[in-house]
Amino acid sequence: MKVTRRQFLKISGVTAATFAVVDLGFGLKATASEVKELRIKNVTPTPTICPYCASGCGLLVYAERDASGKFVKLLSVEGDPDNPMNRGGACAKGAAIFNLREIYDDQTGEQIPNPKRATKPLYREPKSEKWVEKDWDWMLDRIGERVKESRDRGMVHKEKIDDGSEIIVNRCENIAAMGGSGMDNEECYLETKLMRALGLVFLETQARI
Ligand code: SF4
Repeated sequence: MKVTRRQFLKISGVTAATFAVVDLGFGLKATASEVKELRIKNVTPTPTICPYCASGCGLLVYAERDASGKFVKLLSVEGDPDNPMNRGGACAKGAAIFNLREIYDDQTGEQIPNPKRATKPLYREPKSEKWVEKDWDWMLDRIGERVKESRDRGMVHKEKIDDGSEIIVNRCENIAAMGGSGMDNEECYLETKLMRALGLVFLETQARI
C-alpha cells in the first residue's frame, strides 16, 4: 500500500495518541465520539499561502460552504504538511491567522466575525478623532493627490557639484517607500519602478517583523 506523507503523519499521530490514552487508563469510547464531532470532518481544505511574510508558508483553510460552494464560515486554518516550505508548521503569526477573520465571543463562546477586521477603506481627517468609511475610488484619488502635493513640495531639481556648476538631479526627498515581505518579485519590481519614476531615493523593506 502506498502511503502519502500526510497519511503517514495521520497514522503515526493517531497511533501515538491511542497508546498515550490507553496507558493512562482512559476508555476510548468518549474519545471516538468526540472525533466524530470534529467540525472539519468531511470538509475539503483549500490550500493557500500565508499572507504575512516572504517565507511563503503553505496553509490549509477549512471552511463551511453552502450547496453552491459559496463560502459561509471559516472553521480552521493550519500549516500544510504537503508544502515543502513549512511542512505543516507555522510561526506564531501564521498559527493565529484564523483570528484575522473570526474570534470566539468572551461571554458566549460563540464563533463570530472579528469586529476589529477592517473590510472597507477608513479615512481620518487631519486633527479628527473619527474614522470614516470611504469607497476605494475616493481613497485612491485622495492618495494620488497627497502624493503629488508632497512630491511637488520635496522635489530637488538641481544640485551644485564640486566645480560650482549645477546638474539636474530630480530627486524627491520627502517621501519614502516601504515594501512588505509578503510582496512577491513582480510586486517588488512594480513598486520600485513606480517609486523611482516619482523620483524617490529612499526605498526600504520591512523585512520579516
Ligand atoms: S508569517 Fe509565519 S507562517 Fe506566515 S509565511 Fe511567515 S513564517 Fe510562515
